[in-house]
Amino acid sequence: MKKTVISIIGITLMLFAFTACQPRYIFMPHVHAFGEWTIIKDATCTEEGVKTRTCRLCSETETQTIEALGHELDADGKCTRCNKQVEQYINSGEAFLEATKKEGEIILTGDITIDIAPWETNDKSVFGSEETESIVIDGKGNTITFNNTDSDWNAIYTKNEDAVLTIKNATIDNSGYNANGGTWNGHDIIFSCNVVLENVTATNAIVVGKNATIKNSTISDVNCTGDAYMLWIQANGQTVTVEDCKINGKSSTTGADNRAIKIADQYVDDPKAVTLNVSGTTFSSDTKAAVLVTCTAGATINWGEGNDISGVTADTEHAVWNDSDRTDAMDLVVVNGCTKIQEV
Ligand SMILES: [Zn+2]
Ligand SMILES: [Zn+2]
Repeated sequence: MKKTVISIIGITLMLFAFTACQPRYIFMPHVHAFGEWTIIKDATCTEEGVKTRTCRLCSETETQTIEALGHELDADGKCTRCNKQVEQYINSGEAFLEATKKEGEIILTGDITIDIAPWETNDKSVFGSEETESIVIDGKGNTITFNNTDSDWNAIYTKNEDAVLTIKNATIDNSGYNANGGTWNGHDIIFSCNVVLENVTATNAIVVGKNATIKNSTISDVNCTGDAYMLWIQANGQTVTVEDCKINGKSSTTGADNRAIKIADQYVDDPKAVTLNVSGTTFSSDTKAAVLVTCTAGATINWGEGNDISGVTADTEHAVWNDSDRTDAMDLVVVNGCTKIQEV
């Protein structure tokens, strides 16, 4: 009886094996004997390809990706294979604005100065064209100086409002009109465009008016003559992410009381709550909290891992203060992962 059951199971398994697989060698374990690779999709400069090969004995197929080839650049930064302008080598501010309208990452071969027009001119210093979606500048360790031409609020715009300006591996500074005047009335480096800063050393305070991601970067403004926030976030409802940064609101050589981050509705017509994500970031400041919120619409602050506020003189416990001028908005300031208090 037992034997019959076992053999029935055996036959069932064999039948199953026959129906599941047609190959001749199904019962014969074998080392696959694969044929030549057949290219299903060619790899290009930027995209992986696909190839397959089939076993001559059991027709099992193997599929592999083919690594993207990478561009082959000529001396002008143009790819000899796909003909794309991949890199543009720039060593002057004059060439810079033109370069932002063209395709290809902008590689600095030296320090450059870019004139930034004041806000009230119709012809703002705009980067890129209507079609430009992304402007990437690799500073290669050089310095970009944004030169305030002749008034307050000299800001950086992109022609396409949805474009993202990325600056990496650079020192950024400003010069010209009241360059060391501090955050008030916008004498800083003002990004009125979506911006990504990566591996950047900012030696002047920064203002962000749209989405911003700041990574592995340092912001300080030691020569500022007035009390300044190192990062001033205009309350336009955007998302700002600060990751693995040093916000140095100390070390002023002029005796100013420097501060760290402010989310501010000042100078904003229709304030909207900003979302600020902070992680891995070290703060120092002479006064105020690591983050001061001055906004009728409040703000959401997501306080991630690895932040250090031990260098914030006024408060090493509560990362966020709600401004004493905005007590009505205290409930609208939402904090996750840290505590907030009302400034008195
Ligand atoms: Zn096989
Ligand atoms: Zn290419």
